[in-house]
Amino acid sequence: MAKKVLIVGAGIGGLATALRLVKRGFEVEILEKNSQAGGRLNQLKKDGFTFDTGPSFFSMSYEFKELADDCNIALPFETIELDPLYTVNFAGLDRSFILYKDIEKLAEQFENVEPRFEQKMKLYLLEGKRIFDGTVDIVVRRNFNSVFGYLFTLMKAPPRHLPKLFRNFWQQVSKYFSSDEVRQIISLVAFFLGRTPFNTPAVYTLLSYTEFQHDGYYNVKGGMYKIVEGFVQLLKKQNVKFHYNTEIVDYKETNGNLNYLIDDDNKKWYSDIYVINSDAALFRGKVFKRKNFSEERLDKMIWTMGPLTIYLGVDTKLPNVSHHNYYLGKNFRDYADKIFTASSIEDVPYYYVNVLSHTNPECAPKGSESLFFVCPVADLRYKPDWSDKEIIVDRIINDFSKRIKIEVKKNIVSETILTPIDWGKEYNLHRGSGLGLSHNLSQIGGFRPKNYDEKFKNVFYVGASTVPGTGLPMAIIGSKLVTERIEKYGIV
Ligand SMILES: Cc1cc2nc3c(=O)[nH]c(=O)nc-3n(C[C@H](O)[C@H](O)[C@H](O)COP(=O)(O)OP(=O)(O)OC[C@H]3O[C@@H](n4cnc5c(N)ncnc54)[C@H](O)[C@@H]3O)c2cc1C
Repeated sequence: MAKKVLIVGAGIGGLATALRLVKRGFEVEILEKNSQAGGRLNQLKKDGFTFDTGPSFFSMSYEFKELADDCNIALPFETIELDPLYTVNFAGLDRSFILYKDIEKLAEQFENVEPRFEQKMKLYLLEGKRIFDGTVDIVVRRNFNSVFGYLFTLMKAPPRHLPKLFRNFWQQVSKYFSSDEVRQIISLVAFFLGRTPFNTPAVYTLLSYTEFQHDGYYNVKGGMYKIVEGFVQLLKKQNVKFHYNTEIVDYKETNGNLNYLIDDDNKKWYSDIYVINSDAALFRGKVFKRKNFSEERLDKMIWTMGPLTIYLGVDTKLPNVSHHNYYLGKNFRDYADKIFTASSIEDVPYYYVNVLSHTNPECAPKGSESLFFVCPVADLRYKPDWSDKEIIVDRIINDFSKRIKIEVKKNIVSETILTPIDWGKEYNLHRGSGLGLSHNLSQIGGFRPKNYDEKFKNVFYVGASTVPGTGLPMAIIGSKLVTERIEKYGIV
């Protein structure tokens, strides 16, 4: 008889793992605390507008292809390659930099800003490629059974990359570029890890190679939530059962194995194998009550940004705003140093704007736009009080209006604001940390919470706070790694 696997959480990690496991003959059921699947990769439909609520693009698209090949399915969504990748606007500058993938076109953007940009960028990206080729397969796409095994594997990486573990992203970028504008723009990708360029190791400059050269960024036709809808449909066709509005809050163990999980309605959920897609650190503490993951211990770990997100429907077109846009201030270093620990937001914060309706006109009524703002802020350890959210959002919208020279406020017909409090409650994210555990050296690879349980042999983990890490492609790789473990544990 097929072994039964119960997956707790219908985030991208849980869904991808379910696809791989049904293909291998396991019987899969999924429990989800919310009323719809997707987790942070979610969708809001309101006032005639459609908004992607979390991820608005992804890199390493070939990881989705690998998943499809592994499951012998066609991907149930269509990707749109982004080129230009995004635009960057600095406060006080009456122009935006357009980040093209083509290096010659990109160099034209920096003609009077960074001498010999093209030559420098080629050298910088070549080094990023070397880091990528020398590390990704041996460190990211691999399971580790011990810290020793992890450190041993690290030693197999080319020694020339070793100093980049101890240098930061900004220092690496500064070795190649002299202008502040280029340094800031190239360093922005560190914020995608929920960190800053000043506390992200230089090895992550491989991300510049992934964004500009290797594979770039992708959006999904009809919006990112098409990924979730497609995966859920495929799973339902294969008789995977979904149970929504079901939150796991407790458990019962027997002889070193997890016997059953208990939901918020006191219902018992039995299975042979359990895969936890809820945050791997928080679940160990909150549900399994492990001392190493107690609230105090979790608070001492390094967490990524808390997201302040705004979803605006406006009844006008914004022809001068691209699909993905970054709006930066004038005090990058000072801002980066304070951003993740500031208890108040005095000035206009830095923010990102996505116009989903540009590439997907069906996501807004005719003549309107669907806008999504992300503003990285401190998690709830540092800024627990969000009673000032309207004031902060007002500042952002006023600043945006000035930069694009259109009074957005008078055109708003739909507005939704989510603070780190909302994100934390909705998806069980520790202190509202949007991307989960940070990617600093002490929290990656063999040092990250493992994808198998320390105590229960029949419990495994997938998602942002276990290996390999955060972001959609990492969750897909994570689903492959956890499937390898489950196959070894319980061949059907
Ligand atoms: C604002 C924002 C923007 C982002 N932008 C990007 C981007 O552009 N590109 C990119 O690649 N990544 C982006 N990310 C990161 C990306 O969203 C995440 O890394 C990824 O979606 C995490 O997936 P997951 O499966 O690990 O977890 P989740 O999506 O959190 O899924 C876990 C699921 O488990 C459920 N759950 C939790 N606890 C329980 C419980 N006890 N019982 C039952 N169910 C439970 C939750 O409700 C959730 O549905 C962004 C994140 C945020 C917050």
